[in-house]
Amino acid sequence: MFAKAQEMLQAYFGYESFRLGQEKTVSNVLSGNNTMCIMPTGGGKSICYQVPALVMEGTTLVISPLISLMKDQVDALEQVGVAATYINSSISGKEAYERMKGAKEGRYKLLYVAPERLDSIEFLEQIKDMHIPLIAVDEAHCISQWGHDFRPSYLHIHEVINSLPQQPIVLALTATATPQVQEDICRSLHIELDNTVMTSFERTNLAFSVIKGQDSNAYLFDYIHKNKNEAGIVYTATRKVADQLCDHLQKENIRVAKYHAGMSNAERMEQQDRFLNDEVEVMVATSAFGMGIDKSNIRYVIHYQLPKNMESYYQEAGRAGRDGLDSQCVLLYRSQDVQVQRFLVEQSANEGRFTSELEKLQQMVDYCHTEQCLQAYILHYFGEEHTESCGRCANCTDERTSMDVTKEAQMVLSCVIRTGQRFGKTMIAQVLTGSKNKKVLDFRFHELTTYGILSHKSVKEVNDFIEFLISEEYIRVEHGQFPTILVTPLGRDVLLGNILVQRKEALHIKQIVKDNP
Ligand code: ADP
Repeated sequence: MFAKAQEMLQAYFGYESFRLGQEKTVSNVLSGNNTMCIMPTGGGKSICYQVPALVMEGTTLVISPLISLMKDQVDALEQVGVAATYINSSISGKEAYERMKGAKEGRYKLLYVAPERLDSIEFLEQIKDMHIPLIAVDEAHCISQWGHDFRPSYLHIHEVINSLPQQPIVLALTATATPQVQEDICRSLHIELDNTVMTSFERTNLAFSVIKGQDSNAYLFDYIHKNKNEAGIVYTATRKVADQLCDHLQKENIRVAKYHAGMSNAERMEQQDRFLNDEVEVMVATSAFGMGIDKSNIRYVIHYQLPKNMESYYQEAGRAGRDGLDSQCVLLYRSQDVQVQRFLVEQSANEGRFTSELEKLQQMVDYCHTEQCLQAYILHYFGEEHTESCGRCANCTDERTSMDVTKEAQMVLSCVIRTGQRFGKTMIAQVLTGSKNKKVLDFRFHELTTYGILSHKSVKEVNDFIEFLISEEYIRVEHGQFPTILVTPLGRDVLLGNILVQRKEALHIKQIVKDNP
């Protein structure tokens, strides 16, 4: 059957050969195994179910939450001569009826549906009359409460499969899977963990960097001017900041488009087209922009504000350099943006997910403070264990020498313990710098031996140092009503003198921090 798959790949899609992950996924599916395929965006997941759909008898059902992309996918398939259709809320009831009738008659090789369809009893009855050899679950991370885009309808998928007269093979596909999400997908869809095909998420043409302690606007304008005539995306956390920044860039004579969910559909499409057609160089947008866009020559992605988690960050940053040429991913870090994201999490997360969203945000903040290889940090986050330093990111190319800061680390850790591990980092920084703040005095922390032992530093410097210790996992944050910091077992080892702590010497730049534009 695999030889036939190769034939189909060439005949319909015109590709010489499967990519490595595709080959493994396709052969696994054709051997009759439920399979999970984890590949980065642009890795070529669609082929993994489209080719088996052509090889197998019957109609493959594709479940996808991306309604706006279904039509594109189906159009593309029809163009190469594959019979495909989709059923979602964008078509009329009559049209849906016609398409379903066609599907039951076996007219299509692929039928795309939105997950919400699975909640309709009528639809479930109808698909019992179809011959479905394969169910492809696209964006499968939506199945997991731990994922960043949970969809309750995804939880029904397995029941639906069970209700079918003939059991189809299940292929789950996603670009974002932490080990926890991976387990959830496998459990829910009855896929053996061993049947996971995962290609590395490393993007060898991307250079990551985090910019701290600099004027974000000055940095951004300078960057864009230096990269004139190159296409880039600037992501903001809120619509308001996107609006303001877009106005600001226009005043600087930068050709810029804008995209966020507060604009009308028509406006968004118009702005998107200007960017895709190279009429403007820069797109300023919220995370609403980018899903499914296929622009390969994006040379940089700048996050003007901290994103909410690593999944979003890597997905958005990963839109740079799809053509394989060297590209940059820059994150502008300001601590006040952590508060912005915290606020957004509070507004949107339901109770059960609140803590896990805050933990994800913390890991995003840790990324900004780590001194390890940034690409390795990302790959580690997504469950890749053996990662080497990339040699391209800002940390790998940082030539500052490392200093031994074990003594300062011990002072901080000791202060955390002496204050009972029930406060946030600002309180600890205040105690260490000898603040006369009322709360410090009320708790009688001025009587502690650690009071004022870092008085030669500012609260901000000590705060930054604590962030660094958190990112290196000597301290962890617990997200209760207020975030409190605690010493980890690794931190205890530092206190015992078993581990030395190294940190790059601080940059001596004058900090001119202006407000948002
Ligand atoms: P994903 O869904 O993983 O983001 P896509 O399925 O959209 O990725 O594929 C990304 C790009 O890779 C598409 O432009 C597609 O045409 C191309 N592609 C996929 N498979 C192959 C292959 N075997 N050989 C060459 N190009 C491929």
